[in-house]
Amino acid sequence: MEKDIDITKVVRQHFEMDDFFTGGFTTKTKASEPELQQQRDNAAFANAAAELEEIATEVRQCRKCGLGSLRTNAVPGEGNSKARILFVGEGPGADEDAQGRPFVGRAGQLLDKIIKACGLKRSDVFIGNILKCRPPDNRDPRPEEIISCLPYLQAQIESIKPEIIVALGAHAARTLLNTNKSIGQLRGQFHEYYAGIGRPPIKLMATYHTAYLLRNYSRENRERVWEDMKKVLAELGLPIPEHTRS
Ligand code: URA
Repeated sequence: MEKDIDITKVVRQHFEMDDFFTGGFTTKTKASEPELQQQRDNAAFANAAAELEEIATEVRQCRKCGLGSLRTNAVPGEGNSKARILFVGEGPGADEDAQGRPFVGRAGQLLDKIIKACGLKRSDVFIGNILKCRPPDNRDPRPEEIISCLPYLQAQIESIKPEIIVALGAHAARTLLNTNKSIGQLRGQFHEYYAGIGRPPIKLMATYHTAYLLRNYSRENRERVWEDMKKVLAELGLPIPEHTRS
């Protein structure tokens, strides 16, 4: 009678022979631990990019609040799916509504300057908002609008897993920290954003909104924002560029 072939044994013998002739170095299927980690990271980042695209598609179709019927374009947010820093503003203005991109008006140009002053590029970070559609006449977001829209930002945070969130202005900081404190009380120190049960909290730095900074363009205010950003860079172990002017 023909003997059953023990496939496990055959495979094991194959690897033993391979080890015997090569010292075990050429076993083609084995990757080193750093290589495996790199493969896992690449897969996770590709996954995050796909998730962000799905969220953006949902946002563009959203009609959960009245702002959906007033917009020209929804503004889901944009940037690096593996960003270490996530900037969060209040909501799109007229320029953002026209282009469907966050922080592209005057306040956005100032944010670009801040990012550059940090030694970073816009493509290094992710930029989002609490509201994804423009409130008419740039009025403050209403509680029911925030409640409808916040799950999109929460999902973006979950995909990106930033190391630090920079909340720009009172609306972003208060919403993410679930507090009524003023931006003056909140800025300049790290807080914790709770991403949900079982998830580690994410450090959050609150600072002035760039639109506020434009309206109150004093040396003191610019220095305050720069101090806040220096703390972010230090926390991430990034070099702090020297600036003679702020
Ligand atoms: N202000 C914001 O809060 N968000 C933008 O996208 C633009 C201006």
